[in-house]
Amino acid sequence: MELNPLEQALHTARALVMADLAAADVAEADVVSLVEDAVTHRRWWVEQWPEGAEFVAGLVAQDVQDALLERYGRWPLCPACSPEDEPHALDVEPELGPDPHWVCTKAAVAVAPVGALGEVLRR
Ligand SMILES: [Zn+2]
Repeated sequence: MELNPLEQALHTARALVMADLAAADVAEADVVSLVEDAVTHRRWWVEQWPEGAEFVAGLVAQDVQDALLERYGRWPLCPACSPEDEPHALDVEPELGPDPHWVCTKAAVAVAPVGALGEVLRR
């Protein structure tokens, strides 16, 4: 069965964020449910505004990041800066746009596309 474009966008967003969580070893059961909650919330959002479908991956990443901050702590930690620096989280840019990336605002560098954090962390 073909997924409609909105379901496809949500499916992709879930897969990308899960890949980044797994890369940082935080893809535990309660974290997976945070992702499901974010996807459910953004399903409602994108049904109201279908033009936003390509923004969903970046939004789900930010939703999960916010939810983790309360329950787990900062995620994902910046792998670009030196370990002596204060540990800090990466930000998603654009906050509302297509092709989201994890960026370090401290060093002003794009670290990886959302979904490709594993390639950076396993280097
Ligand atoms: Zn940094």
